[in-house]
Amino acid sequence: MLGQEHVVRALTHALETNRLHHAYLFTGTRGVGKTTLARILAKCLNCATGVTPTPCGVCVPCQEIDAGRFNDLLEVDAATNTRVEEMRELLDNAQYAPVVGRFKVYIIDEVHMLSKHAFNAMLKTLEEPPAHMKFILATTDPQKVPVTVLSRCLQFSLKPMTVDQLVSRIDHILQAEQVPFEPAALRLVARAAHGSVRDSLSVLDQAIAFGSGRVETDAVASLLGVGSDDAVLALAQGVAARDSRAVLEMLDRMIGAGQSAEDVLQDFGRLMQQVALLQLLPDGVAPGAGDPPPAEWLALAAALDAPSVQLCYQIALSGRRDLVHAPDEAAGLTMSFLRMLAFLPGGPAGPGGGSGGAAGGGGLSAASHGRASGGSPLARPAPPVSAARAQAPAIALQPLPDTGPQWLALVDQLPHAGTAMELARNVTWLHRSEQRLHLSLPVHHKLLLPAQERLLALLAALVGPVQIDIRLDGVVADAPRAVEHSVVARDDDLRERRQAAAETSIAQDPLVISLITDFGGRVVQGTVRPRDQAA
Ligand SMILES: [Zn+2]
Repeated sequence: MLGQEHVVRALTHALETNRLHHAYLFTGTRGVGKTTLARILAKCLNCATGVTPTPCGVCVPCQEIDAGRFNDLLEVDAATNTRVEEMRELLDNAQYAPVVGRFKVYIIDEVHMLSKHAFNAMLKTLEEPPAHMKFILATTDPQKVPVTVLSRCLQFSLKPMTVDQLVSRIDHILQAEQVPFEPAALRLVARAAHGSVRDSLSVLDQAIAFGSGRVETDAVASLLGVGSDDAVLALAQGVAARDSRAVLEMLDRMIGAGQSAEDVLQDFGRLMQQVALLQLLPDGVAPGAGDPPPAEWLALAAALDAPSVQLCYQIALSGRRDLVHAPDEAAGLTMSFLRMLAFLPGGPAGPGGGSGGAAGGGGLSAASHGRASGGSPLARPAPPVSAARAQAPAIALQPLPDTGPQWLALVDQLPHAGTAMELARNVTWLHRSEQRLHLSLPVHHKLLLPAQERLLALLAALVGPVQIDIRLDGVVADAPRAVEHSVVARDDDLRERRQAAAETSIAQDPLVISLITDFGGRVVQGTVRPRDQAA
């Protein structure tokens, strides 16, 4: 029983000390080995050598259980036998002593599927079980098993296999069967199995058949319609280099190979998570990881700064969630990556674009966008980058804000995380002069100031060349701010108004009024909440 050592240890101890319970419940996702474990336990209980954690495997009960024809072992799949009559019939048989074995063992798989009446019928037997009777229940969904049943079972939860555990198992099988394989292919198989041993084996069978007796990365990737790690890595390298063309070409190739947008975004997110770990652990070895990380990952960890990795991860997650709303899969996928390129500091470079050097020299101006800062929008000096930009995917720019409400609308479009976002929410709109936005920040938030470079990059992605000028304001924390000029003030105001509305509506509720006037009730201050905050 690979990966279930905690359960095996507890059961072994119980069997060795002969402390047997009359009902066991194994829980865990599909394919982790619940029924396998149940059958092993049935052998432990019935082996001719005596109750033992190590059944001999050669005696008559052991062999018959393996062959599935042991008279005193009954396996029921509750998913197909949910009717109460069947359960009653089954349980009526329970009172008779075992024919050949020591115990009559009932294995009931997917027990949560039983009807309420069937559960009740079973409960009677569970409450007063005959001494020769053992129940082994298995379920993927213990929440749906009645508490009355749960409380009479000894419960063990089986853990899903980790990718590493599955890989080592598959590795072992392939070596034993002398099937040639590429190690990277095994990771793809293991990942596709989502923690299930059973699934990993069936995927492996398909992979061997598909690869005519070999398990190779490219073949498995195309069989599963997933990206090989190489493809996702190339994608990430393109993002890190702000190389729009490389990213778009890679996406095109992946979509062409039949990969789903969801898988691409998921794999990309997983890679970003690994990179984030590497950035935190300078020795480059993540806890639990066996092998040292590939050099390419280390290069990525160096090429992207930590906030950028977070940004990419976040966009991959939200991109996945928003796929259902996208015009089509390819569009949703492409937009997610274009968004990363747009929001990364340094912005999207053109095809073959270099290292994405951020605004240099010009102070806080989005010079990377190619237009000289501070000039009138009409005067367009054309530095070399602009030619490249013309070929890059066009991202429609929005007009610069002129009023407080326009500023708020702009901030609402920024990604919802990070100190840059906090800064954006807390600054108050003052005015605009040409491309310079004048803002003020309450002095008690001055720790957010270092994020202004990042905020500038985010803004530039939406409005093009822009400068910001943030003035520290000595206002006290509670001083009123114009609600149309800062997101925090607006949101606070909104919350207060919704709160007031909620309190008013409670005060006017006829039932509440009658509770107060007829029964002397009172509304406890501070307990009324607008509806969406109630939970
Ligand atoms: Zn035996």
